Amino acid sequence: MAITNWAGNVTFTAADVLRPQSSGELRALVARTPRLHVLGAGHSFTPVADSPALVTLDGLPAEVEIDSARLTARVSAGIRYAELARGLDARGYALANLASLPHITVGGAVATGTHGSGSRNGALPTSVAGIEMVTADGDPVTIGPDEISGAVVSLGALGVVTALVLTLVPAFTVRQWVYGNMPRAQLDARFDEIFASAYSVSVFTTWQDPGNLDQVWVKHRADDGWTAPDSWHGARLAARQRHPVRRMPVGYTTPQAGVEGRWHERLPHFRADVTPSAGDELQTEYLLPRGQAIPALAALDGLAAHIAPALLTCELRTIAADDRWLSPCYGRESAGIHFTWRKDPAAVAALLPDIEERLAPFSPRPHWGKIFALPPARVQASYPRLAEFRRLMNAYDPDGKFRNSFIDDLIGTGRGANA
Ligand SMILES: Cc1cc2nc3c(=O)[nH]c(=O)nc-3n(C[C@H](O)[C@H](O)[C@H](O)COP(=O)(O)OP(=O)(O)OC[C@H]3O[C@@H](n4cnc5c(N)ncnc54)[C@H](O)[C@@H]3O)c2cc1C
Repeated sequence: MAITNWAGNVTFTAADVLRPQSSGELRALVARTPRLHVLGAGHSFTPVADSPALVTLDGLPAEVEIDSARLTARVSAGIRYAELARGLDARGYALANLASLPHITVGGAVATGTHGSGSRNGALPTSVAGIEMVTADGDPVTIGPDEISGAVVSLGALGVVTALVLTLVPAFTVRQWVYGNMPRAQLDARFDEIFASAYSVSVFTTWQDPGNLDQVWVKHRADDGWTAPDSWHGARLAARQRHPVRRMPVGYTTPQAGVEGRWHERLPHFRADVTPSAGDELQTEYLLPRGQAIPALAALDGLAAHIAPALLTCELRTIAADDRWLSPCYGRESAGIHFTWRKDPAAVAALLPDIEERLAPFSPRPHWGKIFALPPARVQASYPRLAEFRRLMNAYDPDGKFRNSFIDDLIGTGRGANA
């Protein structure tokens, strides 16, 4: 049977997924296989993981070693956030942030610059303080502190990451509320204030009525003492549990209405034990300098009638600037405009060039794991450290074992014209 990603829109070249049972087996497999990539949870919508050979780290022991003095944990790269978070929480620790779903692997998430929300929260690669990797010849290496910024958002192009050291924080609890129908004018006037008002804020719009924002999810640390007013920036407190996509089962979502819960059961929108999100969808996301979010949304208003029929929901988030070379939030306080599309690849492909043309003045960087159509030259021009990343890639993988068409097109080979 053909191997596909989670959404089923990418069929991988590999006919099978290899499952080594020990680190020795993994090293031997990497050494003898001419071209390969790790398949994490397969939740990327782009062919970033494609290769003639795919390897999963599922067969290796899921290790979590906490260093309480340093406040770090060394974790297996193949572990999923849901399992990791439960283990950390049981011992009194937390990660500063999580993505909207906990089903993804730590190795796959940080390799694509995955993020959650929160104006002061960095994307997930910012929590990485150490990397252990198997290089093309099968040798284990530890990436030193000087190279972490360059190596962590790797798209899988440097080697097989076997373990990551993550920075921890003490465990905390969170209360989540959902508001409905925020007038767009409120967001236009108070974007920074609204997004900085809670630990994590997500604004959802369907583009059916550009003047109205369908839902606002606010996640407060319980210890900040916030209580939810009935009306907030013109929006009304939801009387019942909501799903970001109308008509989807609300039982898929983490508890709302201010019910206090563990950090890992409130920061993601979706529960760990059910199929996440709509389960039958495509996604696109552009990360912009935060100050450009309002003009960028205004630029998209003219496309609302085209976007709305193809859309399940659109989520706006904020993310802190970081120093990870290939992170879409590199060097800029960021805002994300994310589209969850109906699963109609042709409709999405037809829309993306128009969306990207309108966003062009605002320096969009596409999420590496979500569908986009921006030409490689435009993507490359938006990453000031790209040439250094190519040098790193060629140093760790001179023969291109971990390259694929996606990486060759978007990063370049580092040889010849795009060196
Ligand atoms: C329903 C849904 C919700 C999502 N929500 C968010 C969100 O809130 N925020 C956000 O930013 N993104 C989100 N995404 C996108 C998702 O986080 C990324 O696509 C992420 O990369 C998926 O992780 P994965 O484990 O599935 O990795 P994969 O898609 O399997 O792999 C991604 C890349 O990482 C490489 N890789 C994986 N593991 C390793 C390893 N151990 N060593 C070397 N390379 C490796 C792969 O080869 C590939 O290049 C969402 C996706 C879905 C389907």
